[in-house]
Amino acid sequence: LQKLRQGLDKTRRSLINQLRAIVGQGPLNRDAVMEIEAALLQADVGIAATDYIIEALQEKMREEALPPDLAIAYLKRIIGDLLDRPTQELEKPFLVPEKDRLNIWLVTGVNGAGKTTTIGKIAHLAKKSDYKCLIAAADTFRAAAVEQMKVWGQRSGVEVIANPGKNTDPAAVVFDAIAAAQSRGTELLIVDTAGRLQNKKNLMDELSKIRRIINKKAPDAIVESLLVLDATLGQNGLNQAQVFSEAVNLSGAILTKLDGTAKGGIALAVVQQMNLPIRFIGAGEGIEDLRPFSSYEFVEALIS
Ligand code: GDP
Repeated sequence: LQKLRQGLDKTRRSLINQLRAIVGQGPLNRDAVMEIEAALLQADVGIAATDYIIEALQEKMREEALPPDLAIAYLKRIIGDLLDRPTQELEKPFLVPEKDRLNIWLVTGVNGAGKTTTIGKIAHLAKKSDYKCLIAAADTFRAAAVEQMKVWGQRSGVEVIANPGKNTDPAAVVFDAIAAAQSRGTELLIVDTAGRLQNKKNLMDELSKIRRIINKKAPDAIVESLLVLDATLGQNGLNQAQVFSEAVNLSGAILTKLDGTAKGGIALAVVQQMNLPIRFIGAGEGIEDLRPFSSYEFVEALIS
């Protein structure tokens, strides 16, 4: 928690200091609520999630007076509930690969968002938890991407399946990787994909082709489509998220670079606007700097 708190330091300092100053003046009143609204928007919580939080707060205020501590506690609860909404129905709130089965995690996101790094970190985490893990380097468009993935594979001790040569079809890499995974009893296959937003049609074609290969070759696999989002982009990242959600049926988001931004509120916007659960958060460039997302931890790190 301490590390996460450090990671979220910029967002926390800007948000909590403002909130404390606002609510510190006695029971919440209308002016204070407007200031809270401004503070949330400034942390890139986004209009929709801010509206939701403010309405819930106002509803509570109609029921009872909210002195400072209660106001903060209530805000935490509203935010925690919002973050939990997409996983509320699920038995397991955390994303964990099922043992003794093939789980395929398709990782998407625009170049530079932190896909390769995040895949390396997930592989490391999975390896540490004794999963049989494999990586498919299906971002074949950039030669450097495959090399970089191999470096992360070495760091985490996980083999990377890649096709040599130029202009390799990403779907062919995925096909080979699934074959390897099936013959070795791999439990988690992580697939890196290309992230060229400039050519939306290519991106969509490529991702849907990969999905088709997965459905055909591994119909029994548990598939997750995870979108890696750079938190430093704040609200702008949501436009990218929209494009990816049109290209592939997303099941979760991973927020990276939370350590470098005061825009950590974007987590709330992703949940509210896209109804996507946040699955992991990255707060640093090192192999250990990835955590499964916990709404409780996140809220505690953000507002305390
Ligand atoms: P890709 O193009 O999406 O595969 O992105 P990369 O994995 O190559 O990451 C792009 C840059 O972001 C690299 O310099 C990474 O070290 C950096 N990066 C990735 N995740 C994080 C993070 O959580 N925190 C910070 N500070 N940097 C990160």
